[in-house]
Amino acid sequence: MSTDTAYLASNWAEIRQRVDDACHAAGRDPATVCILPVSKTFGSDMIRAAVALGLRRFGENRVQEIRDKAAALADCGIDWVVIGHLQTNKAKEVARLASEVQSLDRPELALALHRQLQQAGRSMDVLVQVKTSPEPEKHGLPPAQLPAFLDTLRDYDTLHVRGLMTMAVHSDEAAEVRGCFRLLRQLRDQSVAQGHDLQRLSMGMSGDFPLAIAEGATEVRIGTAIFGGRT
Ligand SMILES: *Cc1c(COP(=O)(O)O)cnc(C)c1O
Repeated sequence: MSTDTAYLASNWAEIRQRVDDACHAAGRDPATVCILPVSKTFGSDMIRAAVALGLRRFGENRVQEIRDKAAALADCGIDWVVIGHLQTNKAKEVARLASEVQSLDRPELALALHRQLQQAGRSMDVLVQVKTSPEPEKHGLPPAQLPAFLDTLRDYDTLHVRGLMTMAVHSDEAAEVRGCFRLLRQLRDQSVAQGHDLQRLSMGMSGDFPLAIAEGATEVRIGTAIFGGRT
């Protein structure tokens, strides 16, 4: 085992245990919560070490980074998951390189992705990113626009809408952070009641995942706690 792989193996075991503990504290089955490793800013060697651990799915927030890493790691069979804000003019590359987009947050982007996927003869899973925090720098669809957006997405057969994603407010107040996660779950439940088949809730990061799990996260996106601090 390489040094990087040993380092990652230890971090992975620890975060998986913490996720399991959070599930037990919330009265949930740990098998219902998966971890998306977020490899942004880390290089191909580090990701290759994670692949050696059996990880195959990685979250990235910049298309440029996915392009570079996908080329360097073409032999690894990696599924790249886009979790960052996407410019519409990146749709073509995303249609080519990504297996899933969790940051689908506006109609123009959905249309652009649909057209590029049609041309590529592909389809992909998507999550709708909802803005649950008041911070201006946080992206996402305003909650009030979710019902109409989900109806629009029904017309795009290349986009398989699986659930919702959010980033909570950055705050020391647990109640405020948890409120963001609760809102996402409520929006998911309302959408299901309106006939949309949304199972997944991608919410929670290294610093706040126990609160997300308490509110029903099915997937937590973990960077720092697996790969270490980013510079
Ligand atoms: C970077 C990032 C994460 C992971 O954050 P950590 O605090 O390093 O776990 C999760 N989600 C999104 C959208 C990110 O950009």
